[in-house]
Amino acid sequence: MDLGLADKVVIVTGASRGIGLATALALADEGAALAICARGEPDLSQARARLEERGAAVYSAVCDLEDASALDRFLDAVHEHFGRVDGLVNNASGMAFGDADEDYRRSFEIDLMASVRASRKVIPWLESAGGGSIVHISTTAALEAPGPVAYSALKAGLFLHSKNLAVALAPQQIRVNIVTPGAIEFPGGVWDEAKRDSPSAYQSMLATIPGGRMGRPDEVANAVVFLLSARASWISGIVLSVDGAQHKGLL
Ligand code: NAD
Repeated sequence: MDLGLADKVVIVTGASRGIGLATALALADEGAALAICARGEPDLSQARARLEERGAAVYSAVCDLEDASALDRFLDAVHEHFGRVDGLVNNASGMAFGDADEDYRRSFEIDLMASVRASRKVIPWLESAGGGSIVHISTTAALEAPGPVAYSALKAGLFLHSKNLAVALAPQQIRVNIVTPGAIEFPGGVWDEAKRDSPSAYQSMLATIPGGRMGRPDEVANAVVFLLSARASWISGIVLSVDGAQHKGLL
């Protein structure tokens, strides 16, 4: 199936590893040009090299999404570099799993507001490209309790933001969707660390997954890439879980 992504310009935040990197790699395989950011230079450079190996045109820059003006500068630089933007994946998270004010602040700034700000910024560019697609990465932990409270509360805030944008932007051919991954394991990721540092928490989570394993970043990436593509032209305002039936709530 041709996804129609060749030469489209897609921004993926937090793309130096995990779901963000897997999404960028899958987009590169579809012929898209990538703009990626992350906090640390060495991992970002490695990600860039892997994308270029696949023939993608890449713009990359270190950017801490907690800093609104840094995000603004990154997005302006992307637009100046490529001259257009067709898609945005709001992927990075503060991964603030506690219940302290600081956990709420980080989740608010990174999980919610960076996604709000980046979306707001790219909308006129998507419109001048004739339409486009925004995908927010939330989590099945935002669908029901129990879960990490600050993280899941602010990730849940994305749902209604996304749905409102989907309705408001449909006339401009801009689609807005959410992907909610279940537990996803990869080297250096949160579940890889848990396997080593909190094996009982890892085993408890594993026991909730009917398929008997954690998900892989590429399994989430495939869903994200589809939603970014022209093949998802009539899909907007949805919350798509990629979790092997781990989540069994009502939403
Ligand atoms: P991760 O959290 O391990 O890191 C991904 C990337 O985000 C890295 O490139 C990192 O540099 C970047 N990043 C983190 N904070 C940043 C910041 N302030 N500014 C810029 N970049 C930043 O990756 P992951 O586990 O693949 O998670 C990706 C998304 O998927 C997140 O939104 C997360 O909440 C969601 N998610 C993950 C899981 C999971 O089990 N891993 C489950 C559900 C949802």
